[in-house]
Amino acid sequence: MKPASFEYFAPDTVEEALGLLHEHGDDAKVLAGGQSLVPAMNFRLARPAAIVDIGRLGELAAIDDSAPDTVAVGARVRHLDLERNQIGGPLGRLLAATARWVGHYPIRVRGTFGGSLAHADPAAEWCVLARALDAEMHCRRTDGARTVSAVDFFEMVFTTALEPHELLERVVLPRLPDGSGVGMAEFARRSGDFAIVLAVAVLDLDGDGIRGARIALGGVAGRPVRAAGAEQVLAGAEAGPDAIAAAAAAAADGIDPVGDIHGSPEYRRDLVRAMVTRALEQALA
Ligand SMILES: Cc1cc2nc3c(=O)[nH]c(=O)nc-3n(C[C@H](O)[C@H](O)[C@H](O)COP(=O)(O)OP(=O)(O)OC[C@H]3O[C@@H](n4cnc5c(N)ncnc54)[C@H](O)[C@@H]3O)c2cc1C
Repeated sequence: MKPASFEYFAPDTVEEALGLLHEHGDDAKVLAGGQSLVPAMNFRLARPAAIVDIGRLGELAAIDDSAPDTVAVGARVRHLDLERNQIGGPLGRLLAATARWVGHYPIRVRGTFGGSLAHADPAAEWCVLARALDAEMHCRRTDGARTVSAVDFFEMVFTTALEPHELLERVVLPRLPDGSGVGMAEFARRSGDFAIVLAVAVLDLDGDGIRGARIALGGVAGRPVRAAGAEQVLAGAEAGPDAIAAAAAAAADGIDPVGDIHGSPEYRRDLVRAMVTRALEQALA
């Protein structure tokens, strides 16, 4: 199918884009990589009267790696840029490992980090990673800017805290200490499909000990969630198979997963156990 008719704008500056979003309000949609929005428009699931294409806003396409404790990823940075990132360290490794799971190669060439977060599919890799890292979303509108933490940003399936007239500009991620363990595992029916369940694990390691853990899950609820029980089990534990098994069991016990045509709640619970196990094995490898 073809989309319903719309007005197309391609602003040259962020200010111009914000002005257009302010002017058109609920009737406008930001167009980034188009990998989710265009199919939705073609199926007439979305019928925006105005499209604000941010493809010319070069300042949103940069990764700022200059701060000592954080890395700022522009909303227009593409999945492929993160797969081939120069960030280095555990954060760079985690971003590269996660990017590889986002759809197929042509989707990673066009789709953007910010577009995925704004779209808020609960099984999207970037949404789960953002939740694991407590990412800070920097949002801007004509009359100001605000920062929303990942826990508040994702509200429910395809719904975020972004207002219609707001632009997601960049996302600030914590630089992970050297020696941190990182892992990412997902299960999908076919390569390139959205995950049925995925897990992201980040471990703060001290020799053979685990100082702290961040574990986030996707595909189990209307938004990405943290596996708090598993994180508690791991904090202060000795790194090894016993800790992994206990954390995976706690993650599975601690959720009440959704069921749909792709998997029953029981199936998803078992996948949580398996994906947390795999992500933690990677983090301790
Ligand atoms: C066949 C197929 C398989 C896929 N598989 C996966 C997968 O396995 N995992 C996965 O995560 N994704 C998958 N995707 C989706 C893909 O990752 C998209 O790239 C991503 O969801 C949206 O990014 P985009 O840049 O294309 O955004 P767009 O499609 O342009 O926009 C998506 C939404 O976000 C809004 N938006 C975009 N940027 C901003 C911004 N800066 N500020 C405010 N709002 C904004 C738009 O208005 C729109 O509502 C798949 C897509 C296809 C077609």
